[in-house]
Amino acid sequence: MSLHTLSFLSPRSLNFRLIASFFSILLLIFSIGNVITIQLAREQLYQQRDAQIAAQRETFRIEIEQAEQHLIADLQAQLAIITKAVRGPLQNHVSVVRDVGESAEAQIVRQFADCLRNTETSRIYSCLKVHAHHFSLDSIDLTNHLMIKTSIELLLSREELVAVEVLDWEDQLFAGYALDRDGILHPLRQRFASQRQILRRLEQPVVEDDYLGRVIFHYHTETIDAQSRRAEESIAQFIEYSDRSAVTATHQITQTRLIEGVIFFVLSLLAISIITLVTIIRPLTQLTRHAEYIAQGDWHVIQACDASVQRRDELGILIRTFNLMLETIRTTHQELKNANTCLEQKVKERTRELEEKNQQLERLSSTDGLTQISNRVKLDEQFREQLQLAQRYDAVFSILLCDVDFFKRINDTYGHQSGDLVLIEMAQLLQQEMRQTDHVGRWGGEEFLVILPETSLTDALALAERLRCTIANHTFPGGPTSVTISAGLSSYQIGDTQETMVERADQALYRAKSEGRNRVLAYS
Ligand code: GH3
Ligand code: MG
Ligand code: MG
Repeated sequence: MSLHTLSFLSPRSLNFRLIASFFSILLLIFSIGNVITIQLAREQLYQQRDAQIAAQRETFRIEIEQAEQHLIADLQAQLAIITKAVRGPLQNHVSVVRDVGESAEAQIVRQFADCLRNTETSRIYSCLKVHAHHFSLDSIDLTNHLMIKTSIELLLSREELVAVEVLDWEDQLFAGYALDRDGILHPLRQRFASQRQILRRLEQPVVEDDYLGRVIFHYHTETIDAQSRRAEESIAQFIEYSDRSAVTATHQITQTRLIEGVIFFVLSLLAISIITLVTIIRPLTQLTRHAEYIAQGDWHVIQACDASVQRRDELGILIRTFNLMLETIRTTHQELKNANTCLEQKVKERTRELEEKNQQLERLSSTDGLTQISNRVKLDEQFREQLQLAQRYDAVFSILLCDVDFFKRINDTYGHQSGDLVLIEMAQLLQQEMRQTDHVGRWGGEEFLVILPETSLTDALALAERLRCTIANHTFPGGPTSVTISAGLSSYQIGDTQETMVERADQALYRAKSEGRNRVLAYS
């Protein structure tokens, strides 16, 4: 993959940041939204509950009020019967006195309440005041008293009533009865024995001008209170139930929102991970792979750099820097390659020159400067080789040591330069006459040595003789027309060295000279 491919991802970096920020903000809003939603739902639930409770209370209140009204109406009807019995002028009305203060009237009510065995509180009693104005005493005679007593007894037979008191015009107790929990009627004066004043008043005979003021019924509100209690219990149950429902509902909403939040969070995380993978990790992986290529020296597998990487983030900078680095490497490598080629060329040239020089040097070191044939150094080397072959493989070889006859005389007669020319010509003749495998060299002065590989002494003698004849018959230009040579021969014998072989050849040569020159002799 090329760096060009990397660049297409570069504009996405900003997008990535934007998307990441967007998701973060969305998550934050979502979380806050959830909290607010849950709170609102909770408040709404409680509001609904409160409204329901209020409605319920109102319903109960109306029901209780209606029950009470019904009771009062009932009592009023009862009172009508009483008042009809006493035949008094009727101007009655019924009113409920709930707020019982510390008036004489209230004291009486409280005392009435105390009369009862169960004197928990006066609250459970309500005072029903019946105003019966202008009761004429005339009408309240004994009969009437009995009537009233009977009527009161009748009234008290009702469950709701617990006591009835009849007050005179001055609001003094005229007659009173209370019903205990056992259903026994007690005259109030018996019960009020401790209240001397009242007792006195009650014991006083009924005076002529006395009027009945009013009749007070005390009725038990247990039924209504029980109804109220039931209503309250019902409301309490409802509150408890609605509280429980609200908590459950809140819990469910919280749970749902939490699950939604988790799903949203996971999805966001997944989206961010994918975006990160595509926009950051992938280019980074590719960049790393390319860096590895470069580290391994395989940078040439990466395609040409593209400097138009548009990313403005750190990754974009990194890719651009990487591209520049790659370009620098490529340029430097090309320069190095060129320099290397140039250097290799120069080295080749130098090597070739050196080889030539070496060859020249070798030639010079192994060639005789005058005759251009092998010098003594070269002859020594070839001699060693032949000796080794002979020692290792029992090979046969011979040597021929030649010396120009009376050479000094040539020098003296024709000059030294002519002597040199004779030597040069002699060398050429030797090379021409000898075989390819023979080694011809200048041994020193006007002496030449020829090594004859795989040549026995007899063959060597024949060769030498032929050579002598050729030279003797050869016409040398410029100097003496006829030049002869004398030669001594020796063949390899076991245990021979160069010195021993040359020594024997030299001795043969010496004999050839002694015997008249222009002849070839083998050492015997
Ligand atoms: P013989 O027949 O006994 O060999 O007599 P000769 O004169 O050849 O032998 P001698 O040893 O007396 O003389 C050899 C001469 O060869 C002496 C020397 O000046 C001459 N000479 C040696 N090297 C060269 C050379 O390279 N060039 C020339 N022109 N003369 C040389
Ligand atoms: Mg000589
Ligand atoms: Mg000589």
